[in-house]
Amino acid sequence: KYTSILPAANPPAWLGVMGGGQLGRMFAQAAQAMGYQVAVLEPADACPAGQVAQRLVNAGYSDAAGLDALAAQCAAVTTEFENVPADSLSRLAQSVFVAPNAHGVSVAQDRIAEKSFFVGCADKSGVMPAPHKVIASQEDIDAIDDKLLPGILKTVRMGYDGKGQVRVTSRADVQAAFESMGKVTCLLEKMLPLAYEVSVLTARGHDGESVVYPIAENVHRDGILFTTTVPGPNVSDESALKAQQAAQAIVAELGYVGVLCIEFFVLTDGSLVVNEMAPRPHNSGHYTMDACVTSQFAQQVRAMARLPLGDVRQHSPAVMLNILGDVWFEGDSAVEGETAREPAWDQVLALPGANLHLYGKDDPRRARKMGHLTFIAPTLAQAQQQLNAACVILG
Ligand code: ADP
Ligand code: MG
Repeated sequence: KYTSILPAANPPAWLGVMGGGQLGRMFAQAAQAMGYQVAVLEPADACPAGQVAQRLVNAGYSDAAGLDALAAQCAAVTTEFENVPADSLSRLAQSVFVAPNAHGVSVAQDRIAEKSFFVGCADKSGVMPAPHKVIASQEDIDAIDDKLLPGILKTVRMGYDGKGQVRVTSRADVQAAFESMGKVTCLLEKMLPLAYEVSVLTARGHDGESVVYPIAENVHRDGILFTTTVPGPNVSDESALKAQQAAQAIVAELGYVGVLCIEFFVLTDGSLVVNEMAPRPHNSGHYTMDACVTSQFAQQVRAMARLPLGDVRQHSPAVMLNILGDVWFEGDSAVEGETAREPAWDQVLALPGANLHLYGKDDPRRARKMGHLTFIAPTLAQAQQQLNAACVILG
């Protein structure tokens, strides 16, 4: 811990965000609710965050003039996606407070750096990542230890929502997958027997104080987050505590400032494995908007503005359902050019405890995150029941 030297940036200061997606939009809305003004830097001229921010700096993520404009206007800058160039964060940091900083983001955006970091702090965190090996050449493939198979070959950079991943059972599979991905550097990870998946959302202030949200249990479908349930029906007190302690050790070790989410696997033997981290608010933390005293977006505002961190207490059981573009189409496969229908929001919102969040994207596509629904209820069972009803309505 070190003593705070920078004063807080109080409203109505400008806060900047790199990226114009839904996370930037919900960040902007939280910041504006607290009286801040928000500037978004994003290359696309129509984007979810740009619709709500007071200013859209329409520039590439590495555009010097755009970065300088953002830095000149803002009291602090954050990022809403992990693939923002670390150099851009460093450039911003020359003239404005940036949280998270380039170091934390660069570790999280590179699976090799991330895995090495997890291994390096395993004595403090008490958790290890899955056994893995860097695959960058034919020699690496020839040298694969049988113990790593069956496994998953993941691109080192730019992977998300299961993209850039291929399941492999043999060296020949690895070779074919490596070639199909254009021979970019990959990581081969041993396929582990997962009992369930959890994530831990943390926030650390610039004074070194950190908070941890309740552990969330996540279900993925086709590599994309499907539901988040908090409290998790499978999560034991022991694994929750272990994951929360690991998360706090990890943010401290990174010297991180801001909201960070860490994904863990719980294996069938009950052991905990750290998977990956996102240096920003996370899809599995959306439930905090409706179920916690301080949402993950309001927490990000507090951390970057050097304000005291907010109460992470969950006041209601919650289940979150991602709304993908699929629900705009009938049946299982959208036909090319098929016209979208409007989902029955009136019926969904008639369900008790429903909170609808849509991101302002006007072209629904399959597997595209369009919004989410969070159900809040006195008991988890009631919340789950409403979520099931919503799934039936949405088809
Ligand atoms: P992404 O960046 O796409 O989220 P992840 O590494 O989190 O990539 O992988 C996506 C999903 O694939 C995980 O949530 C998990 O369900 C599954 N998965 C990833 N790695 C493993 C593994 N080593 N063993 C078993 N399942 C895995
Ligand atoms: Mg993941």
